[in-house]
Amino acid sequence: MPIRRVEVYTVELPYRKPFTISMGTSVSSTDVVVKLIDDEGRIGWGEASPSRRVTGESEDTILAAMNALVPLIIKEDPMNVERIEEKLSKAILGNTAAKLALEMAAFDLKGKILGVRVRDLLGGYTDRVETDFTIGIMPPEEMASDAVKHVESGFRILKLKVGTDVNEDIARVKAVRDAVGGGVRIRIDANQGWSLKQAKKALSEMARYDVELAEQPLRWYDLEGMAELTRTSPIPIMADESVHSARDALLVAEMGAADYINIKLTKAGGLLEARRIAAVSEAAGIPNMIGCMMEGGLSITAAVHFATATRNVVTTDLDSDISLKEDFVEGGARCEGGFRILPEGPGLGELRVREGRLKLRAVYEEGRESTTPL
Ligand code: MG
Repeated sequence: MPIRRVEVYTVELPYRKPFTISMGTSVSSTDVVVKLIDDEGRIGWGEASPSRRVTGESEDTILAAMNALVPLIIKEDPMNVERIEEKLSKAILGNTAAKLALEMAAFDLKGKILGVRVRDLLGGYTDRVETDFTIGIMPPEEMASDAVKHVESGFRILKLKVGTDVNEDIARVKAVRDAVGGGVRIRIDANQGWSLKQAKKALSEMARYDVELAEQPLRWYDLEGMAELTRTSPIPIMADESVHSARDALLVAEMGAADYINIKLTKAGGLLEARRIAAVSEAAGIPNMIGCMMEGGLSITAAVHFATATRNVVTTDLDSDISLKEDFVEGGARCEGGFRILPEGPGLGELRVREGRLKLRAVYEEGRESTTPL
């Protein structure tokens, strides 16, 4: 049962098309994939999706963090996920994507050993959740045609990236609303792109297009500004980059700095901290969304387990794998008509990692104190 060996891989994930948000444009991600193996050869998988601008991590920092983190969990009992997570969280500050990958793999392994889904280990609430589809910043007419295409394929909620010039942002929202009509839910995400003044103007204008919520209009640290918007905006405010941890959620709640909090496993550094954020949010009367970075299907499946286990998660934004040219997993949480459906099977469920797509970067084993970069 103890974790005997950990293999660390990287995988290239090119997108179907360039993805632009207020912080920049990206065309692909390089994710780090970990494989935990216990002394009976059972396997747990985890994924880290680096985000330089949100968690300050890259492929290289994650690989470096593994040198500090993995030796701490070799020989640990995968039943003790909370203890594993404590060791990881105390070892180094931040590096949450790296920590998530290891904790996710420990949960997967624990679930497989017990024959139980991760969703059931975490609580258990439902078996499917509806997701939005996210449209990156583009000219209004392109965003509108993209919106129509995705509504036709079954999505009933759209998330529009904004946060550039306010008048252009208003035109983007108008174009999409005009194109999809009244039956589709529209939310926006400015990714910290506006000043308080710009946000006030944008939100008061956009309210006429029936926008259900506005994610992170201001800089992550501007909780006073977020609180002012939460009091005055006609559109409810969601904190995303402002909340990584349960402590952040407590501060946002105390300051009245959001109507909703967006949990991401990558920001939280694991499912356990994500659950703590949900607990703090629920106690404060703040509903959660669960969102994603540009993650592959493994990490998205872990997020679906969390979402289907947690009643305070009232909506989801779990769509990044759909925008990949080719995922590195088969199976996992499938997407049908805008719903993510929990896979059958223990741990993270029935999914196959295409190991041929992975590049082995390091192996850590019991009895070998130093790492073995290949
Ligand atoms: Mg966001």
